[in-house]
Amino acid sequence: MRKNFSLYGLPDKVEFCSVCVMSNQKPNSIIEFRGGKEGVDKKRTGISFSDNVCSACNYAKEKEKINWNEREKKLKKLLSKYRKKNGYDVLVPSSGGKDSSFAAHILKYKYGMNPLTITWAPNMFTKIGWKNFSSLSNIGGIDNILYTPNGILHRQLTKLAFENLAHPFQPFIVGQKVIGPKLAEKFNIPLIMYGENQAEYGNDINDNKSSQMSNKFFSVKDIKEIKLGGMKVKDIINQNKFKIKEFEPYIPTPISSIKKKNIQVHYLGYFIKWDPQECFYYASENTGFSPNSERTQGSYSKYSSIDDKVDWFHWYTMFIKFGFGRATTDASQEIRNKKITREEGINLVRKYDSEFPSQYFRDFLDYISIDEKKFYKIIDDHRSPHLWKFSNKKWRLKKQI
Ligand SMILES: [Zn+2]
Repeated sequence: MRKNFSLYGLPDKVEFCSVCVMSNQKPNSIIEFRGGKEGVDKKRTGISFSDNVCSACNYAKEKEKINWNEREKKLKKLLSKYRKKNGYDVLVPSSGGKDSSFAAHILKYKYGMNPLTITWAPNMFTKIGWKNFSSLSNIGGIDNILYTPNGILHRQLTKLAFENLAHPFQPFIVGQKVIGPKLAEKFNIPLIMYGENQAEYGNDINDNKSSQMSNKFFSVKDIKEIKLGGMKVKDIINQNKFKIKEFEPYIPTPISSIKKKNIQVHYLGYFIKWDPQECFYYASENTGFSPNSERTQGSYSKYSSIDDKVDWFHWYTMFIKFGFGRATTDASQEIRNKKITREEGINLVRKYDSEFPSQYFRDFLDYISIDEKKFYKIIDDHRSPHLWKFSNKKWRLKKQI
C-alpha cells in the first residue's frame, strides 16, 4: 500500500470552505483558505478574510458591496472607445453555452456593439451542445466562427493528456485560450470580451480589481519546446507523423503583435453583476438556449458544461485527482448565489459527486482509442494517496464533506 503522500502539490490536510462546499484541494491556490492571516491579507488585497472561506465566497461577498451602476457606466465608456461604424468591434469567445451567449447577445442588443463570436470546436459535440451552438446565430442573431482543429492531431493530444496527466481537456483548454487573441489579430478587433469573471470560481483576488484579464496572453519562444498533453511538441512530432506546421492552432499570438495592435481582454463580469442562473434565463429567452432534458451525470444540474462529451471526463478526472467534482462546483456556485443552502449542497455533493459518467464512456474510449482496462489503470494511477483509500474492493474518499 502506498503511503499517505499527496500528489500535485495539494495540501496534505483536506479542509472545506465554511460557506460553500469547496475544498482546499483546488489546485494552483485558486481557492485560498485564509485561517488566521486576516491582517496580512487585508493589507495585501484590501479585502478581509475570515477563517476557511474560499476566495470565490469572499468575492461573492465583495460583489454585494460593488456599485454596479458605476460599473455599468465604465462599461459604456469602454465600449464607446471601441465601437466602430463598420465591421466587428468586439470578439466574444463563446461555446454557445449560457454565459457566453448572454454576453454576446447583451453586447449586441443592449449596448449596440457588433460582436463576432469565436468557438473552438468541442472534442465531440453533444446533441444539446450542437443545438445551443446553432441557436446562438439562428435565434440569437449573432455572427460566429467555428474553429475546428485537425481531428487526428487533436485526438492524439487529448489521448496524451489523458494518459500522462489524467487531464483530457487540456488541449481543448489551450486551444480555446489561444484562439481569441489569434482571431482578434487577424480580424483587427482590438477588444476581446469574455463573460463571467474567473473570480466566480475562485482566483487570485487581486485580479478582480481590474476588468482586464492579465493572464489571458502567453508567449512561446520555441514551439517545439512547449508541452501539450504532458509531452514536448518535438517529441510528439518524433513519435508521430505530424509536422510542426500542424501545431499552428495551439501556438499563441506573439505578445509583440498583441501589443502592436493594442489588443485588450476584458470580462463582462467585472461590469455586470454575474449570476449563472440569470444568464440561463436570459439565454433561454433570447438565444434559444435549452437545458438538457435530464440531469448531468456527476451533478444535479441540467445546463452547465453540456456541450462536449469529453467535458464529463474532465470533471471526473478532476474528482479523481483532487477529490471534488462537478456537484461540488455546481453546488458551491449556487450556495454563493443563494439558490440553495449549504445543507442542501452537502447532500447533493454526497449523492452525485462520485457518479461515473457512463453515458459517454464508450464515446470517450473510442475517441482516444484506449480500452476500459487501460482507462481504469490511468484513473487509479492518478488517485492521490492522501485522498483515497481502497477498502472492501472499492475506492473511497478518506474525507468527504
Ligand atoms: Zn466557499
